[in-house]
Amino acid sequence: MMSLRLPSIDGVLRHPACVPLLERHGRESLLAGLRQLLDELRPGVLNGQLSAVEISPEVLAGRVSERLLQQQRSHVRRVFNLTGTVLHTNLGRALLPEEAIDAVQMAARYPLNLEFDLASGKRGDRDDLIEGLIRELTGAEAVTVANNNAAAVLLTLNSLGARKEGIISRGELIEIGGAFRIPDIMARAGVRLHEVGTTNRTHARDYEAAINPRSGLIMRVHASNYSIEGFTARVPTAELAELAHRHGLPLLEDLGSGSLLDLTRWGLPAEPTVRQALLDGADIVTFSGDKLLGGPQAGLIVGRKELIAKIKKNPLKRALRVDKLTLAALEAVLGLYRDPDRLAERLPSLRLLTRPQADIFAQASRLQPLMAEILGSVWQVSAVEALGMIGSGSQPVARLPSAALCMRPQVSKRLRGRCLLNLEAALRALPIPVLGRIDDDALWLDLRQLDDEPAWLAQLPQLQVES
Ligand SMILES: *Cc1c(COP(=O)(O)O)cnc(C)c1O
Repeated sequence: MMSLRLPSIDGVLRHPACVPLLERHGRESLLAGLRQLLDELRPGVLNGQLSAVEISPEVLAGRVSERLLQQQRSHVRRVFNLTGTVLHTNLGRALLPEEAIDAVQMAARYPLNLEFDLASGKRGDRDDLIEGLIRELTGAEAVTVANNNAAAVLLTLNSLGARKEGIISRGELIEIGGAFRIPDIMARAGVRLHEVGTTNRTHARDYEAAINPRSGLIMRVHASNYSIEGFTARVPTAELAELAHRHGLPLLEDLGSGSLLDLTRWGLPAEPTVRQALLDGADIVTFSGDKLLGGPQAGLIVGRKELIAKIKKNPLKRALRVDKLTLAALEAVLGLYRDPDRLAERLPSLRLLTRPQADIFAQASRLQPLMAEILGSVWQVSAVEALGMIGSGSQPVARLPSAALCMRPQVSKRLRGRCLLNLEAALRALPIPVLGRIDDDALWLDLRQLDDEPAWLAQLPQLQVES
């Protein structure tokens, strides 16, 4: 019997099946793909494990085509966030309103006056593009913007407190996800940490006793992702500001999420507003662009004019600055805040956060029979009330009343865990991956954020759960 031989690369390339591939991927990618495939097949051919059909040019072309398509697929993928956490850091936090998307497109497509003053024809400052709006919305004297709030905190600390002591309550030495720890950031900013008080209680006299000639600033950090309850004491911002100013020190307040408006008007839990922190006397307030604000990733630094000027002069500002796409989006989002009455309709994050539970429950009830049919008798599918959360450190204990599709495998306890993981993996393998959460022996899809129902439904028949 004659032994099989792999076709040559040229042989495969010349085959008609390769013509469309050449057109689609270009010669270089196709050659590289073919070479790799033939190298992989060679041992199998030598051992006689492959048939003639398996190494025919048509089959090889088909396999290369699959690989090239796989390689070409974008790594940045849209997903359905049905986890119940609205501002999910791992899933990109706030979704931008159409106005901001249009602004980003414009900024991406055309040259723009990023650092150019159109009135005078002279060089401008990128912060000027949003300064007026931020001042109007927060009452701040001046503004500067960094790449995110972590950068804003680092930049502020370094600009105002390097080689000096930063006084902060032990109850506020927090870690935020992704290894952002206040003591570490202070150290990197060159500020010597001077902690005062205890984890649960810090008094004005603790701050007072810590002040000495090396003191550079007092810092206050919003506890964000945890809450201290019970026997606690915290000095109100107004009192802390008065104390700081009496000793000639600036008070920095890192609000984390912060909010430009009082969220209780939409029935959401109260979150400190930037305006109130400034009114209370904080000299600099920092907050994120993509948390409750509902905009792009950014770190906003607002407050007293002379301190902002100092921050802007820091060479680190250049390293931590925002790009034009972010500024374009940010201006558009801030513009929506001028009309608070319509904000909940126009700002996606606020629209999703305020979606009524009854509405979500009705959607879950409507989708329940469909899901039950697709999953078959192994799964009990029910529409149930559920509790979600805001996310990104805003109100860690507050829960958003929501509704979910709850899927319980009807199998023995021993098999349940595996079953749930299989369903979770199958949902993740859909063209637009669907992300839920496993809890209490069930998989939950919180529907608060399912507003593109047609796209979700269209792909559901492709769900293939391994048993
Ligand atoms: C989220 C948060 C930060 C970090 O903000 P990013 O915009 O994620 O960089 C800093 N401080 C507090 C208190 C936060 O909640």
